[in-house]
Amino acid sequence: MVLAQLGGSISRAIQQMSNATVIDEKVLNDCLNEITRALLQADVQFKLVRDMQTNIKKIVNLDDLAAGHNKRKIIQQAIFNELCKMLDPGKPSFTPKKGKTSVVMFVGLQGSGKTTTCTKYAHYHQRKGWKPALVCADTFRAGAFDQLKQNATKAKIPFYGSYMESDPVKIAVEGVERFKKENCDLIIVDTSGRHKQEAALFEEMRQVSEATKPDLVIFVMDSSIGQAAFDQAQAFKQSVSVGAVIVTKMDGHAKGGGALSAVAATKSPVIFIGTGEHMDEFEVFDVKPFVSRLLGMGDWSGFMDKIHDVVPMDQQPELLQKLTEGTFTLRIMYDQFQNILNMGPIGQMFQMLPGFSAELMPKGHEKESQAKLKRYMTIMDSMTAEELDSTNPKLMNASRIMRIARGSGRQVRDVEEMLEEYKRLAKVWSKMKGLKIPKKGEMSALSRNMNA
Ligand code: GDP
Repeated sequence: MVLAQLGGSISRAIQQMSNATVIDEKVLNDCLNEITRALLQADVQFKLVRDMQTNIKKIVNLDDLAAGHNKRKIIQQAIFNELCKMLDPGKPSFTPKKGKTSVVMFVGLQGSGKTTTCTKYAHYHQRKGWKPALVCADTFRAGAFDQLKQNATKAKIPFYGSYMESDPVKIAVEGVERFKKENCDLIIVDTSGRHKQEAALFEEMRQVSEATKPDLVIFVMDSSIGQAAFDQAQAFKQSVSVGAVIVTKMDGHAKGGGALSAVAATKSPVIFIGTGEHMDEFEVFDVKPFVSRLLGMGDWSGFMDKIHDVVPMDQQPELLQKLTEGTFTLRIMYDQFQNILNMGPIGQMFQMLPGFSAELMPKGHEKESQAKLKRYMTIMDSMTAEELDSTNPKLMNASRIMRIARGSGRQVRDVEEMLEEYKRLAKVWSKMKGLKIPKKGEMSALSRNMNA
């Protein structure tokens, strides 16, 4: 994802610090300066970055840390906590409850991705058992109703709007009333945007809000505006009571860091991020798992969530069993590669894990990644059952590697590359050992454990 570069720079800085024989003032300062540079490059506000640096230095007082203390771990934890603090306003947003009618109103500038995001939000909840409906109260932009209608039809979500009526308040009220009668539990109202913040936009938003009394107002913002996000989010907040933010187009802009941190600073939590134009390119935004992923520590809670969502029910127990055993054989790797190639979305699931994401399957290089997986699988096709099921790392000696290379028509170095990949993934997998598999809805507890 777009912030991978930022994550990579921060992880490298931490790694360099960890490699130092002695952690002294200079090593710590070098590490913090490197992190500061990376954050500023991602357009995070200078003040936030400076505060973060000061706080870490306060927490990590090297003189006070006795020799026995694990300084590396304390510094890493402090960096992790400070990054979380930067993105977390510390106030959860309203969450709609299944079976109880909630009205959610979307606001934002034209082009921010509001209409697309309304459908993504509806689709996300529909998959989780809600009964959503969409109301198009955007009478300002020609074609807005057609767009919403098209998206809603594709996602099989009921919608309401009008080609004739020009009063957005009237449409919003009629739509909400109608879907309340139809027992929809999540009524989503898409409102008009403008090219820039102006009085007419805010007045219209206020009127629609007053008439429909939404339980939650979601402000949709394009991540490419970077630091300007702070002022924009604040301006919207002053006109309607924004309860949550969705940051879109996180797939395309290096300034995403600025948008995320600036929004959090306005005390509205970011609840989802848009990572592409497609309906499924939409992710729950949870600060701790996000920072874990950013730092290459993996997003275990997102991973488990996806397993429940994506893997067919009858295959879940087997996969989860293998996960908790922590034994990652070449055969398991083979099966998972096959899953990725066969099932598309499962690829998304594995992208949440360190190792599977940046190195093995970088976004934007799907074709190359697929070719690589197929190449590895051809090599594994020439392996014996003993080799595929072995947990003994010493088994793969030079003569076996030579035989496999010959059998698969590949070079020795290709086989070695595949085995290196296997070792790397096995290391990641081993972290799952003994993991308690949470039921749906227990994900955050898991992520707390993993990040502790
Ligand atoms: P609205 O005017 O705010 O309703 O914006 P639209 O929903 O019409 O979106 C404007 C453009 O942004 C469209 O081309 C969308 O496909 C695109 N878009 C929306 N969300 C995302 C996203 O998360 N990533 C990318 N790459 N494009 C997006």
